[in-house]
Amino acid sequence: MLRFFNTLSRQVEEFQPIEDGKVKMYICGPTVWNFAHIGNFRTFIFGDVLRRYLKFKGYEVTHVFNLTDIDDRIINEAKARNISIDEFTAPFIQYFWEDFDALGMERPEVTPRATHHIAEMIDIIARLIENGKAYESDGSIYYRISAFPEYGKLSKINFSGNIHGASERIDTDKYEKEDARDFALWKLVGEDEEPGWDAPFGRGRPGWHIECSAMSMKYLGETFDIHAGGQDLQFPHHENEIAQSEGATGKLFSHYWIHSEFLKIDDVTMSKSKGNFFTFRDLKEQGYSPLAIRYLLLSVPYRKQLNFTFEGLQGAEATVERLRNFRTLVHDAKVRDGSNPAIAEQIKAQLAEFEAAMDDDMNTAVALAAIHNLVREMNSALAAEQLLCDDRVAVLEAIKKFDAVLGIFGEEAAELIDADIEALIEERQEARRNRNFARSDEIRDELAAKGIILEDTKDGVRWKRK
Ligand code: AMP
Ligand code: ZN
Repeated sequence: MLRFFNTLSRQVEEFQPIEDGKVKMYICGPTVWNFAHIGNFRTFIFGDVLRRYLKFKGYEVTHVFNLTDIDDRIINEAKARNISIDEFTAPFIQYFWEDFDALGMERPEVTPRATHHIAEMIDIIARLIENGKAYESDGSIYYRISAFPEYGKLSKINFSGNIHGASERIDTDKYEKEDARDFALWKLVGEDEEPGWDAPFGRGRPGWHIECSAMSMKYLGETFDIHAGGQDLQFPHHENEIAQSEGATGKLFSHYWIHSEFLKIDDVTMSKSKGNFFTFRDLKEQGYSPLAIRYLLLSVPYRKQLNFTFEGLQGAEATVERLRNFRTLVHDAKVRDGSNPAIAEQIKAQLAEFEAAMDDDMNTAVALAAIHNLVREMNSALAAEQLLCDDRVAVLEAIKKFDAVLGIFGEEAAELIDADIEALIEERQEARRNRNFARSDEIRDELAAKGIILEDTKDGVRWKRK
């Protein structure tokens, strides 16, 4: 039974989708103004593991993951370079997907961009104006929080001291709002100013929160199953999304809210503004593998903070190498025919342990422990020649199952088929006839690296797999 900690109820709840066998899920994506750092990727890898685990449990998943391409930083950077928003964000969007793919994340079904969904945002704002939950002030449109009594239900922040009379004290520069808590849905933009879009309530550009309400409801409907993102988005972003969406539709917006904790460095949150971050590219340049980075970022359960250290990353590098070597070892082991019931039992037990851990609010640490236990047990079985042919198949299948969720073993090395080997041997013979010994040695080494041993006999070249 799959259970998640739902921020909305502050309880671990059994997961029940709205529609049997299907999950509709929205995860807040990156603001594409720069390279994403590995803190951002911790959150996105959490989202990827969540997605993959839902699929593992047999659900058909529709996963929407947006790109925020309207934001003050983007607008300012584009203006400074005298280029359009699209020209400024295009390379960062490309780098983002390159890093995303390299880190082994599955592409979500829908990856909408804010700039392509202005009409949907205008529509929600118009509904909110109509039902009294939004108002105009100095040309901008604000959300009227006093008209949504449930405001605060996600973050559980008590706002009672912040309203009306207190507003000048906490937010003096925003005097045009009725209430300090009110937030902008649509910001006034001058006639010749860019970027700006025409709306029935005047030319302007959207606030950040309305982007996600519009893109989630467009692709998933007014009520869907899961909304997730980093811990910092709980307030105000997700609280405001709820106010906008539920304020417009009168329906529950998302059933489950799942928030992942931060990646820290020297016990301080990793962030662009603090300058204490590494991008994926920084670490790759230093020689770390994407698999190790992924392993490190998912090794701690998502609701616990993770402190980044290079020792930790080096440890992850050694671990993924050990896992990969284990798979190769099992693959290449010379085993006798048959099956060993005791081994089959061990494999079944660790698979069950893995699933129980993931069912338990995605406890990846315990799930990884099950994998390491299996590796240890199978290594002993191999050493004792207890692992038989059918067991080998079962171990390799178990690894495939683990990896469909965690993606830490990586691709299997492509096996050379006999015809390729014979073609290379022929090329080597040809090189030798031409006294090109450098090339012939190169071919021998290349084959050796793939476990193919050559033996020069008087009857020609014989070969065998190691
Ligand atoms: P942004 O690109 O700033 O919109 O952030 C994208 C995502 O990264 C959001 O879900 C944030 O919550 C998340 N995020 C930002 N910093 C960190 C961090 N240090 N650790 C984990 N997630 C983070
Ligand atoms: Zn969002």
